[in-house]
Amino acid sequence: MSKIIVLIGAPGAGKGTQARLLEERRGIPQISTGDMFREMKGANTPLAQEVQATMKAGKLISDDLTFQIVQDRTSRDDCRGTFILDGFPRTQIQAEMLEQLASAQGKEISVIEIDVPKEELMKRLTGRRSCSVCGEIYNIHSKPPKKDEVCDFHTKIKLTHRADDNEESASTRLATYNEQTKPLIDYYEQSKRLKKVDGEGELEEIYAELEKMV
Ligand code: ADP
Repeated sequence: MSKIIVLIGAPGAGKGTQARLLEERRGIPQISTGDMFREMKGANTPLAQEVQATMKAGKLISDDLTFQIVQDRTSRDDCRGTFILDGFPRTQIQAEMLEQLASAQGKEISVIEIDVPKEELMKRLTGRRSCSVCGEIYNIHSKPPKKDEVCDFHTKIKLTHRADDNEESASTRLATYNEQTKPLIDYYEQSKRLKKVDGEGELEEIYAELEKMV
Protein backbone atom coordinates (compact mmCIF):
# COMPACT_ATOMS: atom_id res chain seq x y z
CA MET A 1 0.00 0.00 0.00
CA SER A 2 1.32 3.46 -0.85
CA LYS A 3 2.00 5.72 2.08
CA ILE A 4 1.74 9.32 3.08
CA ILE A 5 4.90 9.88 5.10
CA VAL A 6 4.48 12.77 7.49
CA LEU A 7 7.62 14.38 8.88
CA ILE A 8 6.78 16.10 12.11
CA GLY A 9 9.03 18.15 14.35
CA ALA A 10 9.65 21.65 15.63
CA PRO A 11 10.74 24.45 13.30
CA GLY A 12 14.45 23.92 12.79
CA ALA A 13 14.31 20.16 13.45
CA GLY A 14 15.53 19.46 9.93
CA LYS A 15 12.35 18.23 8.26
CA GLY A 16 12.97 20.16 5.07
CA THR A 17 16.64 19.16 4.80
CA GLN A 18 15.86 15.46 5.29
CA ALA A 19 12.79 15.47 3.07
CA ARG A 20 14.81 17.00 0.26
CA LEU A 21 17.43 14.27 0.63
CA LEU A 22 14.76 11.56 0.51
CA GLU A 23 13.37 13.10 -2.63
CA GLU A 24 16.79 13.38 -4.25
CA ARG A 25 18.06 9.92 -3.34
CA ARG A 26 14.91 7.83 -3.19
CA GLY A 27 12.73 9.72 -5.66
CA ILE A 28 9.88 10.18 -3.18
CA PRO A 29 8.14 13.50 -3.87
CA GLN A 30 8.47 16.04 -1.07
CA ILE A 31 5.48 18.26 -0.51
CA SER A 32 6.37 21.18 1.71
CA THR A 33 3.58 23.56 2.68
CA GLY A 34 6.11 26.17 3.81
CA ASP A 35 7.86 26.07 0.42
CA MET A 36 4.56 26.32 -1.41
CA PHE A 37 3.52 29.33 0.65
CA ARG A 38 6.91 30.95 0.08
CA GLU A 39 6.48 30.43 -3.66
CA MET A 40 3.38 32.59 -3.49
CA LYS A 41 5.65 35.53 -2.69
CA GLY A 42 5.89 36.60 -6.31
CA ALA A 43 2.13 36.83 -6.78
CA ASN A 44 0.83 40.29 -6.21
CA THR A 45 -2.64 39.38 -4.96
CA PRO A 46 -4.17 40.36 -1.60
CA LEU A 47 -4.20 36.68 -0.61
CA ALA A 48 -0.51 36.22 -1.39
CA GLN A 49 0.31 39.35 0.59
CA GLU A 50 -1.69 38.15 3.55
CA VAL A 51 0.12 34.80 3.43
CA GLN A 52 3.52 36.54 3.44
CA ALA A 53 2.57 38.76 6.39
CA THR A 54 1.28 35.78 8.39
CA MET A 55 4.42 33.77 7.70
CA LYS A 56 6.70 36.64 8.54
CA ALA A 57 5.02 36.96 11.93
CA GLY A 58 5.55 33.24 12.52
CA LYS A 59 1.82 32.50 12.68
CA LEU A 60 -0.13 29.75 10.94
CA ILE A 61 -2.04 30.13 7.70
CA SER A 62 -5.72 29.10 7.88
CA ASP A 63 -6.48 25.39 7.87
CA ASP A 64 -8.77 25.71 4.86
CA LEU A 65 -6.26 27.43 2.62
CA THR A 66 -3.49 25.10 3.75
CA PHE A 67 -5.56 22.03 3.04
CA GLN A 68 -6.56 23.38 -0.34
CA ILE A 69 -2.95 23.68 -1.46
CA VAL A 70 -2.11 20.23 -0.10
CA GLN A 71 -5.09 18.70 -1.84
CA ASP A 72 -4.29 20.39 -5.16
CA ARG A 73 -0.63 19.48 -5.05
CA THR A 74 -1.15 15.86 -4.03
CA SER A 75 -3.70 15.27 -6.75
CA ARG A 76 -0.95 15.54 -9.37
CA ASP A 77 0.40 12.44 -11.09
CA ASP A 78 3.69 12.31 -9.19
CA CYS A 79 1.76 11.81 -5.94
CA ARG A 80 -0.09 8.70 -7.09
CA GLY A 81 2.26 6.56 -5.01
CA THR A 82 4.05 7.34 -1.77
CA PHE A 83 4.90 10.97 -0.99
CA ILE A 84 6.33 12.94 1.92
CA LEU A 85 4.51 15.74 3.69
CA ASP A 86 6.81 18.28 5.30
CA GLY A 87 4.98 20.85 7.44
CA PHE A 88 1.49 19.35 7.28
CA PRO A 89 -0.52 18.63 9.40
CA ARG A 90 0.21 21.28 12.01
CA THR A 91 -3.15 21.44 13.81
CA GLN A 92 -5.76 18.96 15.01
CA ILE A 93 -8.13 20.08 12.25
CA GLN A 94 -5.43 19.54 9.62
CA ALA A 95 -4.81 16.07 11.03
CA GLU A 96 -8.50 15.28 10.54
CA MET A 97 -8.35 16.66 7.01
CA LEU A 98 -5.37 14.42 6.33
CA GLU A 99 -7.26 11.31 7.50
CA GLN A 100 -9.88 12.07 4.87
CA LEU A 101 -7.33 12.72 2.16
CA ALA A 102 -5.50 9.48 2.95
CA SER A 103 -8.65 7.41 2.83
CA ALA A 104 -9.77 9.08 -0.41
CA GLN A 105 -6.37 8.27 -1.92
CA GLY A 106 -6.32 4.76 -0.44
CA LYS A 107 -3.09 5.33 1.47
CA GLU A 108 -1.85 4.72 4.96
CA ILE A 109 -0.37 7.48 7.09
CA SER A 110 3.08 6.89 8.55
CA VAL A 111 4.51 9.57 10.82
CA ILE A 112 8.15 10.18 11.66
CA GLU A 113 9.03 12.61 14.40
CA ILE A 114 12.40 14.33 14.17
CA ASP A 115 13.27 15.12 17.73
CA VAL A 116 15.63 17.96 18.61
CA PRO A 117 16.10 19.54 22.06
CA LYS A 118 14.54 22.95 22.53
CA GLU A 119 17.85 24.70 23.25
CA GLU A 120 19.27 23.67 19.90
CA LEU A 121 16.34 24.88 17.80
CA MET A 122 16.75 28.63 18.13
CA LYS A 123 20.40 28.40 17.15
CA ARG A 124 19.50 26.40 14.08
CA LEU A 125 16.77 28.80 13.02
CA THR A 126 18.75 31.98 13.34
CA GLY A 127 21.77 30.34 11.65
CA ARG A 128 19.80 29.01 8.70
CA ARG A 129 20.47 30.30 5.18
CA SER A 130 19.07 29.13 1.86
CA CYS A 131 19.60 29.49 -1.85
CA SER A 132 16.83 31.38 -3.60
CA VAL A 133 17.52 29.50 -6.84
CA CYS A 134 17.58 25.81 -5.83
CA GLY A 135 16.30 25.93 -2.26
CA GLU A 136 19.42 24.23 -0.84
CA ILE A 137 19.49 24.73 2.92
CA TYR A 138 22.65 25.67 4.85
CA ASN A 139 23.46 26.57 8.42
CA ILE A 140 26.28 28.89 9.36
CA HIS A 141 27.08 26.70 12.40
CA SER A 142 26.51 23.14 11.26
CA LYS A 143 26.38 23.07 7.46
CA PRO A 144 28.17 26.11 6.08
CA PRO A 145 28.46 26.63 2.32
CA LYS A 146 31.90 25.98 0.79
CA LYS A 147 32.34 29.68 0.15
CA ASP A 148 31.07 32.38 2.47
CA GLU A 149 27.42 33.28 1.99
CA VAL A 150 27.01 31.78 -1.50
CA CYS A 151 25.32 28.56 -2.62
CA ASP A 152 27.67 25.68 -3.54
CA PHE A 153 25.72 25.15 -6.75
CA HIS A 154 24.93 28.77 -7.65
CA THR A 155 28.07 30.63 -6.79
CA LYS A 156 26.88 34.02 -8.02
CA ILE A 157 23.87 34.02 -5.76
CA LYS A 158 24.09 35.30 -2.21
CA LEU A 159 22.31 33.08 0.29
CA THR A 160 19.18 34.46 1.88
CA HIS A 161 18.01 34.45 5.46
CA ARG A 162 14.32 33.64 5.76
CA ALA A 163 12.14 36.56 6.85
CA ASP A 164 10.69 34.42 9.64
CA ASP A 165 14.06 33.21 10.99
CA ASN A 166 14.63 36.29 13.16
CA GLU A 167 14.44 35.73 16.92
CA GLU A 168 10.98 37.16 17.42
CA SER A 169 9.20 35.21 14.66
CA ALA A 170 11.18 32.09 15.46
CA SER A 171 10.04 32.13 19.08
CA THR A 172 6.42 32.60 17.97
CA ARG A 173 6.84 29.60 15.66
CA LEU A 174 8.30 27.48 18.46
CA ALA A 175 5.43 28.44 20.79
CA THR A 176 2.84 27.68 18.09
CA TYR A 177 4.50 24.32 17.51
CA ASN A 178 4.30 23.45 21.20
CA GLU A 179 0.66 24.46 21.49
CA GLN A 180 -0.83 23.22 18.25
CA THR A 181 1.41 20.68 16.57
CA LYS A 182 3.08 18.77 19.39
CA PRO A 183 -0.23 17.27 20.60
CA LEU A 184 -0.47 15.50 17.22
CA ILE A 185 2.51 13.37 18.21
CA ASP A 186 0.43 11.75 20.97
CA TYR A 187 -2.42 11.30 18.56
CA TYR A 188 -0.24 9.36 16.10
CA GLU A 189 1.48 7.46 18.87
CA GLN A 190 -1.84 6.25 20.23
CA SER A 191 -2.87 5.02 16.81
CA LYS A 192 0.55 3.29 16.47
CA ARG A 193 1.61 5.22 13.42
CA LEU A 194 4.53 7.07 14.99
CA LYS A 195 8.24 6.46 14.63
CA LYS A 196 10.94 8.63 16.08
CA VAL A 197 14.41 9.66 14.99
CA ASP A 198 16.95 11.57 17.00
CA GLY A 199 17.42 14.81 15.09
CA GLU A 200 20.63 15.81 16.83
CA GLY A 201 23.93 14.80 15.31
CA GLU A 202 25.30 14.32 11.83
CA LEU A 203 22.97 15.00 8.96
CA GLU A 204 23.97 11.77 7.19
CA GLU A 205 23.44 9.69 10.32
CA ILE A 206 19.97 11.09 10.74
CA TYR A 207 19.29 10.43 7.08
CA ALA A 208 20.42 6.81 7.40
CA GLU A 209 18.05 6.28 10.33
CA LEU A 210 15.20 7.91 8.46
CA GLU A 211 15.79 5.99 5.27
CA LYS A 212 15.31 2.73 7.15
CA MET A 213 11.88 3.87 8.22
CA VAL A 214 10.37 4.90 4.90
P1 ADP B 1 9.25 25.71 9.86
O1 ADP B 1 8.77 24.30 10.03
O2 ADP B 1 10.72 25.83 9.96
O3 ADP B 1 8.52 26.69 10.73
P2 ADP B 1 8.02 25.91 7.22
O4 ADP B 1 8.78 26.30 6.00
O5 ADP B 1 7.47 24.52 7.30
O6 ADP B 1 8.98 26.23 8.41
O7 ADP B 1 6.77 26.90 7.41
C1 ADP B 1 6.92 28.28 7.37
C2 ADP B 1 5.58 28.98 7.62
O8 ADP B 1 4.61 28.58 6.62
C3 ADP B 1 4.88 28.66 8.94
O9 ADP B 1 5.40 29.44 10.00
C4 ADP B 1 3.43 29.05 8.58
O10 ADP B 1 3.23 30.44 8.54
C5 ADP B 1 3.30 28.53 7.16
N1 ADP B 1 2.84 27.13 7.14
C6 ADP B 1 3.55 26.06 6.68
N2 ADP B 1 2.84 24.93 6.84
C7 ADP B 1 1.66 25.27 7.41
C8 ADP B 1 0.50 24.55 7.84
N3 ADP B 1 0.42 23.22 7.71
N4 ADP B 1 -0.52 25.24 8.39
C9 ADP B 1 -0.47 26.56 8.51
N5 ADP B 1 0.60 27.31 8.15
C10 ADP B 1 1.65 26.68 7.60
